[in-house]
Amino acid sequence: MRVYRSEVLVIGGGIAGITTALDLLDSGKSVVLLDRDEESVFGGLARESFGGMFFVDSPEQRRQGIRDSTDLALRDWHSFAEFGSDDTWPKAWAEAYVQRSTSDVHRWVRRYGVRFLPLINWVERGEFRPGNSVPRFHVVWGTGKRLAERLIAALREHANADRLTIHFQHRVDRLLMRDGGVDGASGVDENNQTPFEACAERVVVAAGGINGDLERVRQSWHRDWNMPPAQLLNGSHRFADGRLHDAVTTVGGTLTHMDKMWNYAAGVHHPRPRKPHHGLSLVPPRSALWLNWRGERMGPQPLVSGFDTRRLVTDICAQQKQYSWQIMNLRIALKELAVSGAEFNPSIRDRKPFAFLRDILFGNRWLVNEMLSHCLDFVTAVTLPELVEKMNALQGDQAVQLTAVEDAVRHYDSTIVRGPSLMNDEQLRRIGALRQYRGDRLRLCKFQPIRDAKALPLIAVREFITSRKSLGGIQTDLQSRVLAAAGQPIDGLYAVGEAAGFGGGGMHGLRALEGTFLGGCILSGRAAAAAISGKFNS
Ligand SMILES: Cc1cc2nc3c(=O)[nH]c(=O)nc-3n(C[C@H](O)[C@H](O)[C@H](O)COP(=O)(O)OP(=O)(O)OC[C@H]3O[C@@H](n4cnc5c(N)ncnc54)[C@H](O)[C@@H]3O)c2cc1C
Repeated sequence: MRVYRSEVLVIGGGIAGITTALDLLDSGKSVVLLDRDEESVFGGLARESFGGMFFVDSPEQRRQGIRDSTDLALRDWHSFAEFGSDDTWPKAWAEAYVQRSTSDVHRWVRRYGVRFLPLINWVERGEFRPGNSVPRFHVVWGTGKRLAERLIAALREHANADRLTIHFQHRVDRLLMRDGGVDGASGVDENNQTPFEACAERVVVAAGGINGDLERVRQSWHRDWNMPPAQLLNGSHRFADGRLHDAVTTVGGTLTHMDKMWNYAAGVHHPRPRKPHHGLSLVPPRSALWLNWRGERMGPQPLVSGFDTRRLVTDICAQQKQYSWQIMNLRIALKELAVSGAEFNPSIRDRKPFAFLRDILFGNRWLVNEMLSHCLDFVTAVTLPELVEKMNALQGDQAVQLTAVEDAVRHYDSTIVRGPSLMNDEQLRRIGALRQYRGDRLRLCKFQPIRDAKALPLIAVREFITSRKSLGGIQTDLQSRVLAAAGQPIDGLYAVGEAAGFGGGGMHGLRALEGTFLGGCILSGRAAAAAISGKFNS
C-alpha cells in the first residue's frame, strides 16, 4: 500500500480543486492533489468550457454603460432559483456569490492574466419569470481553456510549488475517518492498480458532479421533466459519476437537490466522440424553427434560446418522444450556429482577433462545414420534401410529417413577408427585441425566412437532451465545510465546486443565470482554502 501525507488533500483537479490548491499554497500549506484523469487533460471541465463568467457591476459592464447592482442581481437570482423556505445554505451561497463575484472571482482571475471580451453576452433573460435584467456573461478571451491553463501555470510556478504533489490516474474510492473526523482517503492508482492511502489533516472533495453518469442522471430525473428521454447525450466529465458523493454520505455528509440539473435542449452527437454518448450542446439558432419529433412547431409559446434554458428542456420532455428538430437554412446557420465550449470556438480559444471578427462578419463557415460533414444529426436538402425524407431516414421511421413541416414553414415565412409592423409571431417579436442589444444583433439574422432561394440549402438538425451540470450536491456552509444531517460540520471535510452544487449543495436552486458555474467553483474553492488557513472572513 502506497501512502501519501500532507496537511491538505484535494480530491479532483478541476477548476475548483486547482483554485483551492492555489490559495492553500499562498498560505504555505502542503497539499496533495489527486485526480483520476490523465495529466494531458488537467483542469477538468473548465478546460473544455466556453469560459462565460457571471459578474455583477464589473469593470466591463461599466465600460459598456450597463448599470448593475448586487440588489438587482440577487433579485434576478431569486426569481430564477425559486428557492424553498428551508434552502438556508443555497440562499446564503447565492447571496455570497452575487456580493463577491467581482471582488473575489473577477479580480482574482485577472491577477493570473485572465482577460474578458469587451462585449458582454446577455443570456437567460427569463421568460415566464424574470432572469438576467442586464448582460452579465463575461467571456474569457481564450475560453475556459485559457482560464484553466493560467491557473495551472500559477500552481506550477508558485513560490511554494515544492509543497504541492500531484498524482494523476488516481481514483479515490473512500474517505478515511478517525475520532469522528475525516483524515484522508483511499483508492487505486489506475495506471498500475496499486492501492494507496492519502493522509491529511483536512480533505477537500472537488471531484465534480454526477452528470457524467447517465444512469445516475436518469435515477435523479426531476419530476417536472416527465420520464427521462430514451436517448440522453453526455456533455459532462467522464468521471463525474458521484463516487465521492457516495463516499461523503458514508461518513455522514448530506446530499441535497440531486434532482436539480442544468441540462441542455439542443444536444447533438460529437463528431469525434471521446466517451460513450458524447454530446455537444448547440447554441440553438434563434431564427430556426423548433419542431417536435413529428415535425410540428413547438408551442403555443415557440422555443427560442437565451431566455430560459430549463423551459426548453421541460417542453421537449413533455412530448411523447423527447427529442426535437430545428429547421433553418445555410444563411441562418452561418450567422447563428454555435457550439458551447472551447473545442468549437477556435478563434476565441486561440485568441485570434481577426478570425473572430471574420466569423462574426461573414459567418462561421468552418463550424458549419464541420457539422454538416461530420455530425450525424445534420441533414441538408434544397426542398422541404427532400429534407423531410432525409430526416425520417436519419431517425429510421416515418414520424416527421411533411404536411406539418410545410405548414410551420409556410406560416412563419408568410408572417415575415407581411413586414415588421404586422409580424404577429412570438418568435419574431423576440428576434426584434434581441436585436436591440448589440451583442445579439451581431449574431442574429434580421427576420430571415426559412424558404429563401438565396439562403439554401435547407438544414435540419436532430437535437437530444444533453446532460451537463449538477445543480445539487454535497451540502456545505459558507466555509465550504461539509454538513451532517443535523447541520453540524464534519471535522476535517470540505466540498467545493460542482461536487457541492457550486456552494451550499445547490446555490442555483432550480435554474442558473449562466456563467455562475466556473465562478461558483472558484468562490467555493477559495472559501475552503480560507477556512483551512484560518483566514475565513464571513
Ligand atoms: C462544454 C462545456 C462548456 C461549459 N461552459 C461553461 C461556461 O461558459 N461558464 C460556466 O460557468 N461553466 C461552464 N461549464 C461548466 C463548468 O466548466 C463546470 O461546471 C466546472 O468546470 C466544474 O468544475 P469542478 O472542478 O467542480 O469539476 P470537474 O471539472 O468535473 O473536475 C473534477 C475533477 O475530479 C476528478 N475526479 C472525478 N472523480 C474522481 C475520483 N473518484 N478520484 C479522483 N479524481 C476524480 C475528475 O477527473 C476531474 O478532473 C461548461 C462545461 C462544459 C462541459
